[in-house]
Amino acid sequence: MRKKTILIIGGGVAGLAAGIYAQKNGYQSQIFEMHFLPGGLCTSWRRRDYLFDGSIRFLSGTSPNAAAYQLWKELGALEGREVYYYDELTRFEDRDGRAFSLYTNIDRLEAHMLELSPQDQAVTRELCEALRGFTRLDLPVDLTLTEPEEGLEMGQRVMPALFHLLRWQNVSIPAFAARFKDPLLKEALPQFFQFSPPDFPIIMMMMTLAQMHNRESGYPIGGSLAFAEGLAKKYEELGGQIHYKSRVSRILVEEDKATGVRLANGSEHRSDIVISAADGYATIFHLLGGRYADNTIRKYYAELPVAKPILQISLGVGQDFSQEPASLNFPLRRPFMLGNIAHERLVLKHYCFDPNMAPAGKSALTLWCEADDYHWRRLYFDPQAYEEAKQEAASLVLRGLEERYPGLSQHVEVIDVATPVTYERYTANWRGSINGWALSQRKLNMMMGAGMKKTLPGLENFYRIGHWVEPGGNVELSCASGRDVIKDLCKMEDRPFKG
Ligand SMILES: Cc1cc2nc3c(=O)[nH]c(=O)nc-3n(C[C@H](O)[C@H](O)[C@H](O)COP(=O)(O)OP(=O)(O)OC[C@H]3O[C@@H](n4cnc5c(N)ncnc54)[C@H](O)[C@@H]3O)c2cc1C
Repeated sequence: MRKKTILIIGGGVAGLAAGIYAQKNGYQSQIFEMHFLPGGLCTSWRRRDYLFDGSIRFLSGTSPNAAAYQLWKELGALEGREVYYYDELTRFEDRDGRAFSLYTNIDRLEAHMLELSPQDQAVTRELCEALRGFTRLDLPVDLTLTEPEEGLEMGQRVMPALFHLLRWQNVSIPAFAARFKDPLLKEALPQFFQFSPPDFPIIMMMMTLAQMHNRESGYPIGGSLAFAEGLAKKYEELGGQIHYKSRVSRILVEEDKATGVRLANGSEHRSDIVISAADGYATIFHLLGGRYADNTIRKYYAELPVAKPILQISLGVGQDFSQEPASLNFPLRRPFMLGNIAHERLVLKHYCFDPNMAPAGKSALTLWCEADDYHWRRLYFDPQAYEEAKQEAASLVLRGLEERYPGLSQHVEVIDVATPVTYERYTANWRGSINGWALSQRKLNMMMGAGMKKTLPGLENFYRIGHWVEPGGNVELSCASGRDVIKDLCKMEDRPFKG
């Protein structure tokens, strides 16, 4: 019998995962990726002796004890890969020199918070009680439940933490943090996730910390590109084909059925099914010309906030930062402006726990700063002005780092600046977004409800996956999204899904 064919647009982690499951389930698939590398946003880049990472600081489901590990097992993603677990996820310093460490062990965190602020005992205990409750939440890998037994399994897995889910589902981090009397705790908690929207749901923080306490969420040694390359290798071993430097310019449609793709070089490729794992906006409004966007979809793109674009400043320094916190958030004595955005703090991350990132005794440092994508896009039209602005950004960040680490500049061996334009050029993500939609309360409710649809109204044989349809966008959700679609296809054909 002829195998059904699937064309996948985009070789980011979602596209690669969909490809792996397609091959495992008897489809013949191909991936068209516009870049010369797999991974999309899940990437790292080498500059001389240093490897700078652009994505995974922590990945969910990294322990075999977690139900979500099933995903990594099926994809072979963590085979032979060590995982680093943070003891102190981040440290936050205030202007008075006080510091709050976000420890991942709940008992240690509780003791630290009580020591910092005995007057906040009640709210600290409430937070830690909730964290302990979430350590009992172990969500399965299926995003969409199609069988009654899956619903039953979900119910059983959610039940131990149900009280806490209901109790906290509508509370934002800033609203919760406002209950602390201690100014340090009040200021620090809302900055747990850099660039989070004002109504960022506290249960996301609780679930993340609970997973870290359980040692179920960590950093895969080797970095993000190595992780994505592992997926690409697995896909090719299963007989899948990746065509790099192959930008799709159109999804071909006949009688409201997707029939293939046209590439930017004019070649056309036919298939039974088309899956877009590429940018959501471009897929709907460019590759399909907006023909299958109903009011709901248009409303999403008009109203929902997108994850903030960033500048990533990466530094290779001839100094050992391994004794520093893995992530340090500190205030600047001399704040600065970049475009229209004021920067009063810096968040410095090092990767000294991964020997692949820098030679011994040296460190790969990265800083993410919120960026104005219009500002950088405008500058990009003038190559000299764009380069000068990148250099200015790097020198302002270095000036800030000098306040905390005097003399650091003398040890800087490599400087690399990625702007929102860099993200758009290499991954085509709309408005330079780093993980699709910003995770607001409204988006959380969507995730807990029906989610966003992976099909488009009126168009057959077409699916979309990845972080533009899985609000909260991260590597795990994107991969699970690819799995979900292939599982759905198997179900429609009435055959068992092979994980
Ligand atoms: C700074 C930063 C930090 C992050 N931290 C974490 C973290 O700690 N943990 C975590 O889990 N996640 C993290 N993420 C998020 C995570 O990297 C993304 O959500 C995930 O990689 C998205 O994968 P995707 O496959 O859905 O989309 P993408 O990575 O955007 O992949 C889309 C792919 O499609 C290709 N493409 C686009 N248009 C076309 C076209 N027309 N033709 C052909 N190919 C096309 C692109 O080149 C790209 O390869 C972070 C991201 C960033 C940027």
